[in-house]
Amino acid sequence: MARKPGQSATRTAKCASSYAEAVASELLPWFRRHQRELPWRQSADPYRVWLSEIMLQQTQVVTVIPYFERFVARFPTVTDLAQANEQDVLRLWEGLGYYRRARQLLAAAKVVASEHEGAFPNTLDGLQGLPGIGRYTAGAIASIAYDLPAPILEANTVRLLARLGAIAGDPTSADVQARLWKLAEDLLPHKRCGEFNQALMELGSLVCTPREPKCGECPLRELCAAFQQGRQDELPTPKPKQVFESVREAAVIVEHCGRVYLRQCGAGERWAGLWDFARFAVSAKRGRAFQEELTSKVREQAGLDVQRFEKLTTLKHGVTRFRITLDCYRAECTRPARLKPHSQWVKPTELADMPLSTTGRKLARLLVAQRVESRE
Ligand code: SF4
Repeated sequence: MARKPGQSATRTAKCASSYAEAVASELLPWFRRHQRELPWRQSADPYRVWLSEIMLQQTQVVTVIPYFERFVARFPTVTDLAQANEQDVLRLWEGLGYYRRARQLLAAAKVVASEHEGAFPNTLDGLQGLPGIGRYTAGAIASIAYDLPAPILEANTVRLLARLGAIAGDPTSADVQARLWKLAEDLLPHKRCGEFNQALMELGSLVCTPREPKCGECPLRELCAAFQQGRQDELPTPKPKQVFESVREAAVIVEHCGRVYLRQCGAGERWAGLWDFARFAVSAKRGRAFQEELTSKVREQAGLDVQRFEKLTTLKHGVTRFRITLDCYRAECTRPARLKPHSQWVKPTELADMPLSTTGRKLARLLVAQRVESRE
């Protein structure tokens, strides 16, 4: 905790250590009583810890559970994952979002298999040398799998620690991050660091919730500066409000001889590595100008001439700061030219096995349902 004016460094260190002991002595028994049974808690295998931590970034536990179970059933070890092809990994990841995580997972598995003989590094530096593993994930693996004294800081612990230490200011700013990391480090016990870190995350997730924290049932309320000061509702300081931008796009299912056109999204695109129908931003609102824009943009993107647009649906979705209205059509290809690289014609029945963009999957389901209906 912060040193009070006139307090010596030695005394501050002693206070900090007795404060940390008090936190651990309240928190660990609470965790043993209240922790949820989660599939990744069944063992301290670094592969499972790593996989769960990557999946849990920006994603809720309840969403992650089935993905985690499918993933470890298909790739039980890091060596199995290292041998996978990217399309299979992306298909298993489909719907979890932030697909860069999946590509980096595969890249890191390959490094573990080829440079570490299939064993995860057991140092923070070694772990942080792997693709996609930053300070937080390295700390989680090091502490949970190897019981190393490594602090962690993720969404739940940021909130909990900001309240525990009454740390105000934008939690994403460098100075607040530094203070939070310092507190996370000061609180670590000498042993059972992995259990302690999991307990912090669990308390943040179950009790010290973003809105209306359940301070009445919190084992740390006597030790919590925000609770003592009545500031638990104002901490952590809210991030500056996100300004959203509205965007209009169109997706076109181009059909030819019972197959549909797909293109693979390139590096730097929203769904890099996944497949999608022809899709682009549109500016014309309706009528002839809109039809002409669709035709010319399909030609530009896919190199295909199309006609007879049929409106299927409008999907609304959000990606980062964009609020997207996506008008979806099907159209006939009139002149199947040679396809550009990273594109192909596929049968609608093959779509189920391909990793598709989020809206691509919705459209694929719609297309298959329409074909079933039209046969009935
Ligand atoms: Fe969070 Fe309230 Fe517990 Fe403080 S007392 S850590 S604000 S739940």
